[in-house]
Amino acid sequence: MAYTWEPKWEEYIVEIDGIKFKTCRDKITGMIACPICIHAASKCLGLEKEPFGYNYENSFFFSEHDLIIHIREYHARGNNRSIILSNIKTVRGKERKK
Ligand SMILES: [Zn+2]
Repeated sequence: MAYTWEPKWEEYIVEIDGIKFKTCRDKITGMIACPICIHAASKCLGLEKEPFGYNYENSFFFSEHDLIIHIREYHARGNNRSIILSNIKTVRGKERKK
């Protein structure tokens, strides 16, 4: 008997506390994946091809709140903080041009 989990990803929009972004959610369990850890752009959003040598991690959450805490505490620190903040500024800049 195998005890593996084969997720069936669907696009999911996280919208909490003024934050809104797309990621993947498993259709069966309802678990929400961290879009950075699983590279949501290629995994379920169809925006990019799977990047070569990407450091995938398995980070899944039952609530949007827990996902936000993970992103804030795990990804938005050290060198990653400046990268994320510069990407946020880029996104905001594009939105203003519309
Ligand atoms: Zn993550």
